[in-house]
Amino acid sequence: MTADAGQADATPLPEGSLPETPLPEAQRWDSIVVGAGAGGLTVAHDLAGRGYRVLVLEASDRLGGVATGIEVAGLALDAGAESFATRGGAVAELAAELGLADDIVSPNPAGAWLQLGDRAVPLPKASLLGIPSSPLARDVIDALGWGGAIRAYADRLMPVLRIGKDDALGPLVRRRMGRKALDRLVAPLAGGVYSADVERLDVATVAPGLNNALTQAGSLSGAVAVVLEERAAAVARGDAAPSNAQRPGSAVQGIRGGVHRITAALAERARAHHADLRTGVRVTSASPTPTGWAVETDAGAFAGSSLVVALPEPEALRVLGGLDGFAPLATDAAGVAVELVTLVLPPGAISGDPRGTGVLVAADAPGIRAKALTHASAKWPWLREAADGREVVRLSYGSGAAAPATEGLDDDAAAALALRDARAILGRDLPEPVASARVRWEQGQPTTVVGARGRQQALRDAADAHANLFLVGAAVAGTGLAQVVPDARRAALGIRRERFAVPGTPWTDEVAPDELAPDAAAAHDETDAAAPAASATPARDADERGDA
Ligand SMILES: Cc1cc2nc3c(=O)[nH]c(=O)nc-3n(C[C@H](O)[C@H](O)[C@H](O)COP(=O)(O)OP(=O)(O)OC[C@H]3O[C@@H](n4cnc5c(N)ncnc54)[C@H](O)[C@@H]3O)c2cc1C
Repeated sequence: MTADAGQADATPLPEGSLPETPLPEAQRWDSIVVGAGAGGLTVAHDLAGRGYRVLVLEASDRLGGVATGIEVAGLALDAGAESFATRGGAVAELAAELGLADDIVSPNPAGAWLQLGDRAVPLPKASLLGIPSSPLARDVIDALGWGGAIRAYADRLMPVLRIGKDDALGPLVRRRMGRKALDRLVAPLAGGVYSADVERLDVATVAPGLNNALTQAGSLSGAVAVVLEERAAAVARGDAAPSNAQRPGSAVQGIRGGVHRITAALAERARAHHADLRTGVRVTSASPTPTGWAVETDAGAFAGSSLVVALPEPEALRVLGGLDGFAPLATDAAGVAVELVTLVLPPGAISGDPRGTGVLVAADAPGIRAKALTHASAKWPWLREAADGREVVRLSYGSGAAAPATEGLDDDAAAALALRDARAILGRDLPEPVASARVRWEQGQPTTVVGARGRQQALRDAADAHANLFLVGAAVAGTGLAQVVPDARRAALGIRRERFAVPGTPWTDEVAPDELAPDAAAAHDETDAAAPAASATPARDADERGDA
């Protein structure tokens, strides 16, 4: 990936000389944003567009974080995130503001498959995270066999389910529907989508609405039916994307050309509003100053009036560890590493999309080391067109429960393993790829496990104790663009509101009047209406990224 150098018109402070007095105008920033993922870039965009002088410091050589792009065989692909959950509408709204409204697309509704120990089957149509609403439906029997399906149906005959008995998804499904339903349906899907151990996944986070539906329906399968009906009704009302109707369990959309176009557009717009985006600058610590905040980096120190930390949790705690309230949050818990291997196969390599949009692999599938395969050129019609006959598959390795099988392999060996797995999963003797790429993502603890919400709140509380310090990103908002984007926008609004001490009076004098007017008015209105503050607990929508 190419380095994306930022503007270089500002001089860092000499190392170790943090300011005690206000900085000269050229060196003072209204806001310093640490981390240029979706969270950091959203804040930078929203603030810079309103005239704030924004400095973004990004450690890597590229912008976008997990939502960045990668070029393989001349194709611009997503290197990490490739879709967004439609719930809440915040990502689509942002995309529209960025001029991408016409490029919002739905995935091929063909749906994903499951690779079981002995065969591959389509994912049951009426299911939520693999939990079937009709355990005796034909496609459930195909996956579980009669014995497994009847055991899953016993859920309907068991004593009525009461809310709050199980916080974790794995134990809930095992108790109500049996081990086969858990191992063959729910674990591959939920574990694959969330890169977390299904035994620890928090029901309230990964399946919002399910707990309420449980009290209503009294059984797990009945509750899934209620949630699916509610989603279908939302589509009918026009409150949700049509992809929900075709595949109720997978309410996601994408962007023609890849979701990395969102972060690229955020960066471009922020720059157009004079934000200074610098890559290759790692922030090591932060400390308050009489006029705001200073950060130490490997390229010197910088100071600003407010500080926005948009980093994965372990990195945020490293940077903020010296501040009151953060040290007790340090943890030895290991983060999650995921490796993605993309193969571009020659024309004719796969015909007829044999496994829909892709495959989630059950743990007992013999000889297959990948946890999922996305047939990207089948999933996204725009990519099929761009690939011009070639086929693009992306294999995922690693989950919360296991290190990536590709770990320790060199790139060629990782590509060879991915090709072997793709052949086994697709049941075809695929030719050698014309190109391949491998990307490793290291994240903090999964944000979807039981206890994660308490941790996110503890991080927010620690930040709230410091004036003009804001945390955004998946570490506090939860995994997924649908969580990160609206939360970051709330944070930006909070910063702006604080700075417009006198409504309509800009913090800097570089605000274009036409940009200032509506926002200042909005800030004023919302203050009056006691709108949620930047640190308010965000909606905990589930991330339905749908790896396959
Ligand atoms: C493999 C994978 C696939 C995913 N797919 C989807 C999907 O399809 N749809 C979806 O909605 N979500 C998906 N997610 C989740 C989603 O991508 C993330 O929740 C979201 O992008 C996180 O954004 P962020 O800004 O919080 O963090 P990040 O994107 O992690 O950005 C943090 C940035 O901080 C930088 N940084 C780190 N340390 C420092 C430092 N000390 N100083 C300066 N900079 C630093 C990093 O280099 C990085 O650029 C996926 C996640 C993964 C790992």
